[in-house]
Parts: sequence; C-alpha cells; structure tokens
Amino acid sequence: MSLKFLAIGECMVEMAPTGEGTYAMGFAGDTLNTAWYARKCLPADWTVGYYTAVGRDQVSEDMLSFLKGSDLETSTIQKRDDRTVGLYMIQLKDGERSFAYWRSQSAARLLAADQDVLASALKGAGLIYFSGITLAILPPDDRKAFLDGLRAARKAGAKTAFDPNLRPRLWEDADTMRASVTEAAGCCDFLMPSFEDELAHFGDATPDDSANRYLAAGAGMVVVKNGPEQVVCAGAGSRQAFQPAPVSKIVDTTAAGDSFNAAFLAKYLSGGDVAESVDAGANLAGNVIQHRGALVACLEPALRGETVIRL
Ligand code: ADP
Repeated sequence: MSLKFLAIGECMVEMAPTGEGTYAMGFAGDTLNTAWYARKCLPADWTVGYYTAVGRDQVSEDMLSFLKGSDLETSTIQKRDDRTVGLYMIQLKDGERSFAYWRSQSAARLLAADQDVLASALKGAGLIYFSGITLAILPPDDRKAFLDGLRAARKAGAKTAFDPNLRPRLWEDADTMRASVTEAAGCCDFLMPSFEDELAHFGDATPDDSANRYLAAGAGMVVVKNGPEQVVCAGAGSRQAFQPAPVSKIVDTTAAGDSFNAAFLAKYLSGGDVAESVDAGANLAGNVIQHRGALVACLEPALRGETVIRL
C-alpha cells in the first residue's frame, strides 16, 4: 500500500470571538481536522495530503501556508481565479455558540469539477478520506464524478474511508443526502459514522442497525461511534464492541469524531488490530474533548509517544 493518506473536503476560514467585536482568524473543517490529527498519529514515512480547491487571493494563500505549516502535502490543491475560500463566524450569546456561514460560492465546491484534475489528485494515495460534507458541497454531477473517481482509485489499489457526518442543511434535501451517503458507502473500505446522526437522519434504533445498513450498502468495515457509549466495529462475519474510557471533564466536543477517525485509521494502517485501533481513536478523542477548539496542539508530544498526557 502506498504510504499516502489523502483527505478531501473543504477547509474554511474560521472567525472566533476574542472580545467585544474582535475575532481571531483560523482555519477549520471536518476533513482538515482528520488530516491534521492523522499527520500527528502516522509514522514519519507516511505523507499526509489535503485536497481541496482555493482561490488565488491572499486569504487562500494564508490557508495554504497554514496547511503546509501543519506538514500537510498541498501540491495537488486546485487554485481558481474565479472563487475564494468559504468562511464561518462563531458568535457567542449568553454563553451559547452559534455559527454563520459564507460558503455557498466557495472554491471547494468545485473540487471535483474537472475529472482529470481530481484523478491526478487521487493518484498515488493509499488511503483516501472524505466525509458527507465533502459530498454535500458538490453539485450533483460532480458528486457522481467524485464517486466515479473513488471507484477508479480503488481499482488501482487505494483504500477509502468515509464519515457520513450527516448535515441535512448542506444538502438539497434529506432524501438526496441519504441516497448519496448510501451510494458512497458502497465505495468504502472504512465507514465511520456517529450514531447520533444515524439515529436522527436514518432512524436507526441501535448502532448495530447502522452497521448492518452500511454493510448491506457495500461498506467493508463499519465503525460506529456513539459519544461515551460503546464503539461498534462490524465487518463481513465479524462484530465487536468496545467501551471508551470515561472522560470526566469535558470542555469542548468539537472534532471528537474527526480525531477518533484519524487515530483509528493511523493505527489500523500501521498494522494495529481493530481493538488497538479503537483504543487509539478513543484515547485521542477523549483527550481532544478535554481542550477547547478542534486542533489541540498540546497533545502533539503524546501522539508522537514522547510523553504521557497529563490530564
Ligand atoms: P462526533 O464528534 O462525530 O459526534 P462522537 O460524539 O460519537 O463523535 O464521539 C467520537 C468518539 O469520541 C467516541 O467514540 C468516543 O471515543 C469519544 N467521546 C465522545 N464523547 C465522549 C464522552 N462524553 N466520553 C468519552 N468519550 C467520548
């Protein structure tokens, strides 16, 4: 297997409040979070790349610098003259966070517009990671082209991993979301849903039901996360459940699922078994949720195995 982990999706500008009318600019996105943690978790002989589309303006350049500064390989990222990157703003009112988005015309929506560009981005990847948000932002024809590109990459030997990350507001309608996610499941070696979403949008009664539904759709291995509850891992003829260690002081659950996916896949791709991979995923996610923000840099030494995380 080629030692390249390639995540595909949308990275956005994030404006997070720092005071009365002041904001700190950062970069964020579900697939970016997974790429960022995968880079920290995978051995140095792996390349971790990110594929998306950006503009040619300053903020797009800043995003690329951020990705490169995170040791992500960015050479295949498409640069477009006609668009720029999407943005969201976090607003705080009485301690509650709300989000406003400017992403409907983002460059990332065109990441699969040119099939040759997409095919060359996928070329050489050992593991291709994407999410339901990656699919949701694409125009319908490009969505089909994207899944065709994945099928071709799998024929050429790549493995694929997919987190459905169901966000109905990003889709034209809920039926299209369910149909597209089900089709994508048929192109996936690893399907990594969160049960809360599957319950809400597919009406599954239990994590086992979600696993069965995705196996029937053609997924290779299904790893159903469920917050503090058991993680269910199911493949053809096998099924195991694992209890994540309890976390007492939860600060911010942003990126729990994204970081779990990164650490699970990194361990599995490096030869770990399912139990070791779930352990790695739950351990990282359990630490991430004890810190504010999606990308928790202070966990880095521990991920490299240098020190024990002090909680
Ligand atoms: P998402 O962020 O996609 O909603 P989940 O909430 O299902 O993801 O959580 C992903 C993983 O994070 C879980 O499988 C678990 O390992 C860990 N996790 C999340 N919430 C908790 C919690 N309250 N206690 C312990 N672990 C948790």
